Amino acid sequence: MTQPLAPGSVIGIFGGGQLGRMLAMAGAGLGFDIHVYDPDRDCPAGRVATRICAAPWDDMGAVQSFAARCDAVTFEWENVPAAALDAAQSRTPVRPGRKSLELTQDRLTEKTFIRDAGGGTVEFAEVGSLAELETAVEKIGRPCILKTRRFGYDGKGQAVIRDETDLAAAWAEIGENPAILEAFAPFQRELSIVAARTLTGEVAAYPLAENDHSGGILRVSKAPALVSPGLQSQALDIATAIGNGMEHVGVFAVELFDVDGGLVVNEIAPRVHNSGHWTMDACACSQFEQHVRAVAGWPLGPCSPHSACEMINLIGEDVVPWRALAADYSARLHLYGKRTVRPGRKMGHINRISPLPRQS
Ligand code: AMP
Repeated sequence: MTQPLAPGSVIGIFGGGQLGRMLAMAGAGLGFDIHVYDPDRDCPAGRVATRICAAPWDDMGAVQSFAARCDAVTFEWENVPAAALDAAQSRTPVRPGRKSLELTQDRLTEKTFIRDAGGGTVEFAEVGSLAELETAVEKIGRPCILKTRRFGYDGKGQAVIRDETDLAAAWAEIGENPAILEAFAPFQRELSIVAARTLTGEVAAYPLAENDHSGGILRVSKAPALVSPGLQSQALDIATAIGNGMEHVGVFAVELFDVDGGLVVNEIAPRVHNSGHWTMDACACSQFEQHVRAVAGWPLGPCSPHSACEMINLIGEDVVPWRALAADYSARLHLYGKRTVRPGRKMGHINRISPLPRQS
């Protein structure tokens, strides 16, 4: 039986972005010391942590000495190199483990895993060359989406193939990298479920959120989404199968398409997720605290919301009118401490809470 980490223990986080920052703040709230590993000493998480270890991802000596100071290590970024995870694992428990990363770093492996775990997916095919792309488009039909297998996020590394799209141009657009071709899901809305799995395999999930994207970036999440109890329980079943299949420890998110009242899985994030930021102000236990609890071997906190919430991302210049946002009584403002504003960069978010709709 693994003992829970006592307050005062050290939890390490690989990655120092805004997710790491909010994890560090939640961890501090439970009495843990948080150490952050990131190549950038000035990263958002490093500036709220007890300690920042600024070293490259391929410096295994630095990774090992970082891990040796931690009672457990977690991550906020799914592209942490597997070698760094292994090096850390040789010194201290890493939660979630390597399996969660391996299954989600490559879109083809991920979609195959989801299908095998019983979560529905769109039709997909492996693409390694222009000739394979031509065959795959023939099989799947247009419209469809070509995505690089690795390092894609926020809609990057993707090309939509419509009736008029030239396949050579689409192949060039994604840099001729190993790819997956996906059928286009004719969804009515995008949903996501944020769930947590403990060391002993217990899974709990927050209610579904409904998400609006533009330009491949999440703009707004509304939660709890207005869905039938049947859809919520289908989402929980999918999350449970995925969490168990990954042998995950901690929070993870499953992005879903609602296609004619049924759920199709788009992708998995093996970490806290932007579409779970609403839990910071609408639930007694946020996704960040939940993750720290799971990593520390503590009991999970409640996932039930006390309020409804609309989470609005502040992207790029959206953050410039921060004075007006700070003066808005109806909005809770969360800023990530990023030094420079860039187009498409997530600078912060606001949560607007309201009473939960009455159950009929
Ligand atoms: P992803 O990076 O896979 O999350 O894709 C970014 C966004 O592109 C999603 O949130 C969807 O809006 C859209 N998208 C991705 N894959 C598909 C698909 N197979 N069918 C329809 N829309 C998609």
